[in-house]
Amino acid sequence: MIEPFVQKAPALDNLYTSDRLLVGFLRRKLPREMLAAIEPEFIELGAEAAGPLASLQHADRLHEPVLTQWDAWGNRVDGIELTPLWREAERRAVHYGLTAVPYERREAEWSRLRQFVLVYLFHPVTDVYTCPLAMTDGAARTLIDSGNSALIGRAVPHLTGRDPRSFWTSGQWMTESTGGSDVGSSGTIAELGAEGRWRLYGKKWFTSAATSQMALTLARPAGNGPGGNGLAMFYVECRDESGRLNSIRVERLKDKLGTRKVPTAELLLDGTPAELVAGTTGGTRVIEPMLRITRTWNSVCAASFMRHAHRLAADYAHRRVAFGMPLAALPLHRETLADVEAECAGAFLLTFLLVELVGRAEADVATEDEALLLRLLTPLTKLTTGKQSVHAVSEAIEAFGGAGYLEDTGLPVLLRDTQVLPIWEGTTNVLSLDLLLRADVARGLAALERRIRTACDAARTAGLGGVADAARDAVSAARAWLQADRDADERQAGARRFALTLGRATELALLAEHAAACAAGPERAMVAELARRFRQAGVNLLRALD
Ligand SMILES: Cc1cc2nc3c(=O)[nH]c(=O)nc-3n(C[C@H](O)[C@H](O)[C@H](O)COP(=O)(O)OP(=O)(O)OC[C@H]3O[C@@H](n4cnc5c(N)ncnc54)[C@H](O)[C@@H]3O)c2cc1C
Repeated sequence: MIEPFVQKAPALDNLYTSDRLLVGFLRRKLPREMLAAIEPEFIELGAEAAGPLASLQHADRLHEPVLTQWDAWGNRVDGIELTPLWREAERRAVHYGLTAVPYERREAEWSRLRQFVLVYLFHPVTDVYTCPLAMTDGAARTLIDSGNSALIGRAVPHLTGRDPRSFWTSGQWMTESTGGSDVGSSGTIAELGAEGRWRLYGKKWFTSAATSQMALTLARPAGNGPGGNGLAMFYVECRDESGRLNSIRVERLKDKLGTRKVPTAELLLDGTPAELVAGTTGGTRVIEPMLRITRTWNSVCAASFMRHAHRLAADYAHRRVAFGMPLAALPLHRETLADVEAECAGAFLLTFLLVELVGRAEADVATEDEALLLRLLTPLTKLTTGKQSVHAVSEAIEAFGGAGYLEDTGLPVLLRDTQVLPIWEGTTNVLSLDLLLRADVARGLAALERRIRTACDAARTAGLGGVADAARDAVSAARAWLQADRDADERQAGARRFALTLGRATELALLAEHAAACAAGPERAMVAELARRFRQAGVNLLRALD
């Protein structure tokens, strides 16, 4: 008789309490009373994510958003029906204040940290509902920074509110068929009508929050010159009072590799009413806060996916038996998972340094060095963690063997969804160039060197000086590369290695620093081991160019 094959599925524990690195990091960073006040919320969401949300995610596996362009009577309706998981995700996001917390500022400069811990716990079980949330947060920040008081009063309370009946999400419509990276070549035209109202004409090629109530978008006021500076940023409300789309047509939903719960649409703007937010030129500059915020969300989502994939693989390693023992007892399998864990930890610490800096800047307490670091780390963290996440999630899937490749385990979707993280909000190359060619790169690098020196000094107290010095040496190599005389092509060609060297070196330094900050004992030993492992994986990617 053939024995039935029954394999034990991986199980999830509370995503917060089971995450030793996260809990230890918060104990180190947050004032004790503050952590005591907000920790119950982390525990609650951690339990919800591991239980009801994860179950709903699994049950929702085969659902996708549906676009209905016409009703039975021939009317163009362009309605999009979201899946049950996404509808529940919105309710939970509003309940936990995922876009409210940083604007309520109850934790002063730590408000962003509170917000992004919640996002980190929420993200892996809600099938990228974090995409519209990121743009909603970015839109609130952009409107506030624009100083346009009428639009701030009109939209921001909806975007940052906690009332589900009046909550809005926002889209960000930038990419056109002429370019996402090359946004300066956008073809959408804005015309000012006789009634004094702007109307937009053009086609937006990728618009993810297609069910949002509003959007921030770029268009070229008729008569403006070419390039990014000729674009202006506009505010659009997508529907009129009767709920009909405002001269917007949803041409189709994209058929994507992943993020399939996200209704990414092609939109035709055919006289769409819009309001100018801040001047008739310089739109790419005005929309920058949106990108800063969405890149921070992207980094948090990357770190979160990595942690989630690793936690599932690590649990499974205790359940699956091969060669007479659990996978967790096989030295090479253990080694493989430990390498993934080291990458997870590095990505986590870099991401949450960025989060800390965003919070300090918004609370107006950032030093000059911190402001420089924030500018450097926003693209750096996004590009570094974006690349790491695809590799780490892929390894975690492999750690399940054939089961990792089966759709009904719920595992393959993790890899497909992660693959978007190095693409949207700026690809790895585009961000590397952005970093390398920005005017203040040398000052940013100097601020990073000072931050890494501080980390090295701390690491030395725990006997990890050698590990931290590898980080310092890699940053010095990056500085030498930056200062060397080379032609423009050679410089561009090395941009990605330069950026990833800085990203990885910072992660290594932060790992060594965090190990030193942990109480001596098993926790410190665990983080120190992760730091050593991370160093072994390689930090200086410029060496290959020597
Ligand atoms: C699922 C999904 C949802 C999206 N949602 C939205 C949305 O809501 N709103 C929105 O505005 N956009 C959205 N986008 C678009 C996304 O932001 C762009 O696709 C992305 O910025 C890349 O632009 P592109 O597609 O024009 O690629 P391209 O610019 O054509 O890039 C192609 C390749 O060339 C490389 N490259 C480009 N320029 C350079 C250079 N100068 N040097 C070296 N290499 C270079 C890139 O790194 C990339 O590998 C979405 C995309 C996806 C996949």
